[in-house]
Amino acid sequence: MTSSKRVTLKPGDTIGILGGGQLGRMLALAAARLGLKAQVFSPDPDSPAFDVVQNATCAEYADVEALELFASDVDVVTYEFENVPSATAMILAARRAVLPDPKVLETTQDRLVEKDFVTKLGIATARYADVSSAEGLKTAIAQIGLPAVLKTRRFGYDGKGQIVVREGDDPERVWAELETRSAILEAFVPFEREISVIAARSVTGEVVCYDVTENEHRDHILKVSRAPAAIPDAVAVQARAMAEKIATALNYVGVLAVEMFVVPGANGQAPSLLVNEIAPRVHNSGHWTLDGASVSQFEQHIRAIAGWSLAQPVRHGKVTMTNLIGNDILDYGKWLTMPGATVHHYGKGAPRPGRKMGHVTVVEND
Ligand code: AMP
Repeated sequence: MTSSKRVTLKPGDTIGILGGGQLGRMLALAAARLGLKAQVFSPDPDSPAFDVVQNATCAEYADVEALELFASDVDVVTYEFENVPSATAMILAARRAVLPDPKVLETTQDRLVEKDFVTKLGIATARYADVSSAEGLKTAIAQIGLPAVLKTRRFGYDGKGQIVVREGDDPERVWAELETRSAILEAFVPFEREISVIAARSVTGEVVCYDVTENEHRDHILKVSRAPAAIPDAVAVQARAMAEKIATALNYVGVLAVEMFVVPGANGQAPSLLVNEIAPRVHNSGHWTLDGASVSQFEQHIRAIAGWSLAQPVRHGKVTMTNLIGNDILDYGKWLTMPGATVHHYGKGAPRPGRKMGHVTVVEND
């Protein structure tokens, strides 16, 4: 079976999940609710997703034998992180349907390829330029202007692999500091807020988006998500239409997140939207859907990759999701008695600064 083959799972069938973090854990829990089993593949013996499944494979992503056995144990494969090595995806896709199709990863693993893809769809991004040397950075600065953000093309997350370049900075020094050979320089966006759209696309091409989420970062890490975002309806409609266009163009199956900047309009005009990033997976900014919507992003993803119908999720109210990062988790007890709050503890080991340990959702009347 290859990834182009259509699958329809039956209750009792098994979903293989690459990655054993909190996203894999919440996907496995959602699968269980629908009568499906999950088998998690992760190299980390302390993976929080292992705690909620009966069958787990603890092996490296380059372990061909383990991947082959894993593929033979499951009925479809999905992933909880976007940096799945392409060789891993190929080995699995030769044996089982892998959804979303690993081709999507080629687009989303590289910021330059991703931005070119979005631009070709007629969707706006921050202005950007390819940079592969200190000399190239000087040329890009002349073209894009300052301030700007220099980002590695691959493997950036939570603000890692990026540097803000300001007037007076020495391009040679900035380039050396990023420690990469391929980067992009992006114009610094004076955004009024950051939003994301969590969209699901089924095997039949139906797209369902959740209400637009507004996201607040601290130290480059998502801290609070609020749904719905405080943006005009017309802007929300546009944001969802952009996510739908992207999902359709990728021939995507599953849940994806599209992160966007809302840029204030000049002279009282409506704000405009720039796409920042596509995450080909369930996303932290969609965690509010677990308690704040009739069907969560995790269940929606499982439905999509199982070949089942998508839900038309109903939002339960005004929802706020707060990440418990590092030592925040030690206070989980204080949320237990808070009216309208639901606590999610990921069961990870020791808290470390910047580590996502859990989250709390509070649902209030709209
Ligand atoms: P990213 O890794 O691209 O998602 O960036 C992480 C965070 O850095 C974003 O959520 C923004 O808060 C900020 N950021 C990224 N790119 C830009 C930009 N071009 N202009 C202003 N802020 C940015």
